[in-house]
Amino acid sequence: MTHLDLVTSNGKSEVYIGGEIHEVISRFDKNKTVVLADENFLRFHAGKFSGFTLVSVGSGEQAKTMDQAVKLYHKLLELEVDRSWSIIGAGGGIATDLSGFVASTFLRGIPFGFVSTTLLGQVDAAIGGKNGVNLEGFKNMVGLIRQPEFVICDIDSLSTLPEREFLGGFAEIIKYGAIRDRSFFEYLDKNIEKGIAKDAFVLEKMIFESVKNKIEVVQSDENEMGERKTLNFGHTFAHAFEKLYRIPHGEAVSLGMVLAARLSVKMGLLNEDDSFKLEHMIARCGLPVRYDFDSEAIAEAMKKDKKRAGEEISFILLDSIGKAVIRRIPVNNLKSMLYDLR
Ligand code: NAD
Repeated sequence: MTHLDLVTSNGKSEVYIGGEIHEVISRFDKNKTVVLADENFLRFHAGKFSGFTLVSVGSGEQAKTMDQAVKLYHKLLELEVDRSWSIIGAGGGIATDLSGFVASTFLRGIPFGFVSTTLLGQVDAAIGGKNGVNLEGFKNMVGLIRQPEFVICDIDSLSTLPEREFLGGFAEIIKYGAIRDRSFFEYLDKNIEKGIAKDAFVLEKMIFESVKNKIEVVQSDENEMGERKTLNFGHTFAHAFEKLYRIPHGEAVSLGMVLAARLSVKMGLLNEDDSFKLEHMIARCGLPVRYDFDSEAIAEAMKKDKKRAGEEISFILLDSIGKAVIRRIPVNNLKSMLYDLR
């Protein structure tokens, strides 16, 4: 088990990578902790939480809603949860985003921790304290930033994760190399196939380096006023793909990163060679790099993005591999821009 601390003005969040989860979750009293867990994770791993009160939160984006949060508030009332209780969110990004939101808002906030059980969750969603739910199909529209007391990246539970979901996590791993860590990108270039084959040492290193990058960004800009925005590389496109075509997050981010890299080339920032390297790395993970999308529909969905400010949207682009830049693009140009990028 390796361990990193995320320290912000609001406190400390401890992140554990690998190892035995009981060592960490036992700090919460079993008799006063509710585990809000993904239903598919529970089918295989309910035994990891023996003695705790377990509540299934369902699965998929349809579970990450205000309606579901309200149902969970009622469940907590029924269990007579008070401020001396804690919550553990267990599952992928859906379960941790939702349970973090419920824990942060119920009784104005009770202590919580996460056991992250998908690769994407371990390298991204569970780290950094962004908790929230979707609204009318638009992603993460309601939420708040509050750090969990601990995050366990439960590498053991990845053994039951469907392959397509596992591969999706590599999109966010590649993202860190692309936006801020060229030497990590070079490591991925040499070792990505070993990571995909679940070589224990390589996979743990990839998770560790990703968490380290995310922690550095969050510590420097917890409230997303500057550098944290760069973590959204590819995500403005991705959220539109997720909404319109119901593509899993990691695959949507892959398509988004390819489009953002192509846009970077068109704007005279990134060179073609680096754009190709990024696209090739994504393809090596079996992730999509092409999609026959409707430019007009995607442009309309992108106009609702949280990064819109007035008549412009901030896009995260690349100057080179390892260096992200932010550029504002008028919303009226989105349709023709997407048409060009197709
Ligand atoms: P997910 O939570 O939907 O999990 C993927 C699938 O795997 C689901 O079907 C789930 O039921 C199943 N599953 C989970 N763990 C399992 C296990 N160990 N064994 C078998 N099946 C298992 O998807 P995800 O990719 O982890 O997360 C995506 C979500 O995360 C999106 O909603 C995205 O917006 C959010 N996200 C949040 C942040 C953040 O900073 N809060 C960052 C990135 C992504």
